[in-house]
Amino acid sequence: MNAEILAVGHELLMGEIVDTNSSYIAQQLAGTGITVRWMSHIGDNIDHLSEAFKRGLKRSDIVISTGGLGPTSDDLTREAVSNAVDEEMNVDPDILSWLEAVFANRGMEMPPTNIKQAMLIPSATSIPNPDGTAPGWWVEKDGKHVVIMPGPPRELKQVWEVTVGPRFAEISGTGVTATRTLKTLGLSEGGIDEILSELFGQENPYLGIYAHTDGIHLRMIGRGLDQSAAEKVIGPVEAEIRRLIGDSIWGTDEDTPAGRAASILIDRNQTLAVVEGASAGALASMLHALPERESFFRGALVPGSGPVHAGHDTASIDENGAVTLAHLARESLSADVGISVTPVDMTDGIVYIGMVSNSGTHVAKGRFPRHNPEWLMQRSATTAIVQLMDALSSDRI
Ligand code: AMP
Ligand code: MG
Repeated sequence: MNAEILAVGHELLMGEIVDTNSSYIAQQLAGTGITVRWMSHIGDNIDHLSEAFKRGLKRSDIVISTGGLGPTSDDLTREAVSNAVDEEMNVDPDILSWLEAVFANRGMEMPPTNIKQAMLIPSATSIPNPDGTAPGWWVEKDGKHVVIMPGPPRELKQVWEVTVGPRFAEISGTGVTATRTLKTLGLSEGGIDEILSELFGQENPYLGIYAHTDGIHLRMIGRGLDQSAAEKVIGPVEAEIRRLIGDSIWGTDEDTPAGRAASILIDRNQTLAVVEGASAGALASMLHALPERESFFRGALVPGSGPVHAGHDTASIDENGAVTLAHLARESLSADVGISVTPVDMTDGIVYIGMVSNSGTHVAKGRFPRHNPEWLMQRSATTAIVQLMDALSSDRI
């Protein structure tokens, strides 16, 4: 079966918001028997919207939309679908009383404009939206499906998880999917592609390869009639990947470099302190966001301009300077491990990451664009945490 996704809203065409809904839906459908062929963005215009749904019904088995279900006059998705399938809308008494109750619960009277959110056409059933006031529609007509859903990403996700996703799993006859991501460091995308060439190109499980700032990720999507069958499909491929490149795998699924570094430090019963120039607090924020921070994170120094301490020469930012600063972090905050992210070198944009513990020192380098301070902060913090995880797990510090 093939599908298309329509993202509705003038703000999308103005570039004011990014269309995250389409990619969410496409991700959910990946690995099912439903193939997404087209994605479009359409403004809040009844003619353009009606045309988009008509065209969708001609060329696709399934048309899925988000947005345009609000109560205001520019929310026109329902009208467009009723034009496209040539059916008249009527107020559905059950939806209307549900909607009135939602407003009563909020201590408000329902404004008359909201009545249109209780409209249905004969071939549509209502998709409940427990988090909002805009229920979706599931239209089945002449063997085709039109599914319209609310625009706010949180509501969309809820509606998908509770109603739409399970129903598509049933319709496509592919059951459910299980996914597993293996996160690697130290191998290139091309290198992995070569080693694992036999595993790519299969349908079930599907294996994808993606480059991220924390290394190359391998994502498996397995399909089966139920969850355990879908996971079983993934099992042998995961085992084979681990056999071939197990040494380069540092984490799975939701694991982050900060979480990995923290768990190694906690296992070793060690604490960590930071001095950060180029990353300007971004590394400390990452560490601070971890629930286990109190068990290992001693804190961070974020210097501005000028020397960080007596004897520190801001002009000589190099590998030795990075180690000196890592020592400074360790000593001034009484930690076992110190890490420094030096200010960016004014000549060639190199950031040094110094790491120090009782068992050794290690320095890593990164070259970053200097023209965008926000980007420099994030990139240097990410590099620092990945390098720290790597140095800890390979016992270099
Ligand atoms: P609407 O249902 O068109 O009134 O949309 C309500 C809100 O949902 C918009 O103001 C956006 O903040 C958000 N939204 C709508 N469409 C999308 C989309 N495709 N991706 C991300 N957010 C969206
Ligand atoms: Mg809108």
